[in-house]
Amino acid sequence: MYDIDGQANQDGLRVCPRCATELSSGDVRGHPRLTCPACNYIFYLTPAPVTCVIVERDRSILLVRRRYPPKTGMWCLPAGFIETGESPEESAAREVQEETGLDVRITGLIDSWATSEDPRTPVVSFAFTGAIVGGELVAGDDADEAEFFPVDSLPDDIAFTTHRNAIRKYLDGRYPPRGPDS
Ligand SMILES: [Zn+2]
Repeated sequence: MYDIDGQANQDGLRVCPRCATELSSGDVRGHPRLTCPACNYIFYLTPAPVTCVIVERDRSILLVRRRYPPKTGMWCLPAGFIETGESPEESAAREVQEETGLDVRITGLIDSWATSEDPRTPVVSFAFTGAIVGGELVAGDDADEAEFFPVDSLPDDIAFTTHRNAIRKYLDGRYPPRGPDS
C-alpha cells in the first residue's frame, strides 16, 4: 500500500546517497541541513515547483478529482510537478492535457505561493490561466473525474490552499463583487 506519509523527501534519510556514511544534522550557513561528515555532501531540501491551471468555459471552471494521495477523492485544479527541462507553462499545459484531455494555451500567471501542505515535499506553486484550443474532455492520469463547475457552485472541499487562493483571486478579478451603486 502506498503510504503518502512515508514519502517525505527528508524523513528517514539516514545515509549519504554518495558514500553511504551516516548523515548528521548540521548547520550550514544558518540553515539546518543533513550533511555527510565523510564526503561533505549536503542534502538541500529545496521546494519542488508545481503548477496549477484555471480553465474557464461558459462561466464554469475545470476541476479534477484526485485519484491518488494526498487528498484522494477531493476536487482540485489540474496540477502537477514541473519536470526537469520543462518551463512552468509547458508543465501546466501538459498537466491539463494528461488529466482532462483538453489542449490549452497558457494565457497568464495569476500568482505564486510557497506552502508545506504536501506531505512529500515543500512546494512553490505557480497558478496560471489557460484557454482551450482543442482536445476532448476525458479524465486521465492522476484524475478519475474531470468536470466543469459553475463559478457560483464550486465544491466546498477543494484540495490545497494554493488552489483555493488561485480560484478566489481569479474570480475576484474576473467577476468583481458589485457594490450597491454599480
Ligand atoms: Zn558521503
